[in-house]
Amino acid sequence: MKLLRLLANLGYGSRREVLAMFREGRVTDADGQVLSADDRVAHARVRLDGEPLDPAPGMVLMLHKPVGHTCSTRDAGRLVYDLLPPRFRLRRPVLSTVGRLDRDTSGLLLMTDDGQLLHRIISPRSNLPKTYEAELAAPLRGDEAALFASGTLVLESEDTPLRPAVLEVLAPARARLTITEGRYHQVRRMFAAVGNHVQALHRSRVGGLDLGGLELGRWRLLDADDLARLF
Ligand code: URA
Repeated sequence: MKLLRLLANLGYGSRREVLAMFREGRVTDADGQVLSADDRVAHARVRLDGEPLDPAPGMVLMLHKPVGHTCSTRDAGRLVYDLLPPRFRLRRPVLSTVGRLDRDTSGLLLMTDDGQLLHRIISPRSNLPKTYEAELAAPLRGDEAALFASGTLVLESEDTPLRPAVLEVLAPARARLTITEGRYHQVRRMFAAVGNHVQALHRSRVGGLDLGGLELGRWRLLDADDLARLF
């Protein structure tokens, strides 16, 4: 791919703006050699103002999503994209969230521009476990774990039973729930189905990945080892 297109696709600017960067000699290779818009140079060897470029297409990142940010691209309020470098929103292919977390849910959110990977993760056939910690309005009754594990629970206004899910009771009104589907508001609706109400929800794990020490509101790129742990 020509460098003009590479930089424009990474969100560095319009064609006109990126052409100006070349004219100004701001785009070089790793040895400081000035490059031109029509050159084809490996992404890893290109520098803009002496800095390596943003990650190449095929990137996957993990964000520690705070409560209050939506996974939408055009909501009036705060967006998860606001927590990333502004250029990431202009990238082609588009950087999407892998599934969604509600505005009021915090925790591990994956984002990628790799459509195949996205579908592999969110496909109902992926069976990828997702683990949530829920603070509940009322103490657990005691029969929820068996019901969630039974594979017979049907959510309101649906007719297909949920797949078996694993509930661990952490405190009288605190639980860890692992599900392998991603139905709309699934965790909140599961607790509503047993007469409870989720007051706070946090996703701590997706597949074999957890947040590690990633601070609230921060993100990091996933590497090959992370991806191997995901599935
Ligand atoms: N289930 C929910 O109810 N909300 C989320 O954000 C994720 C899973």
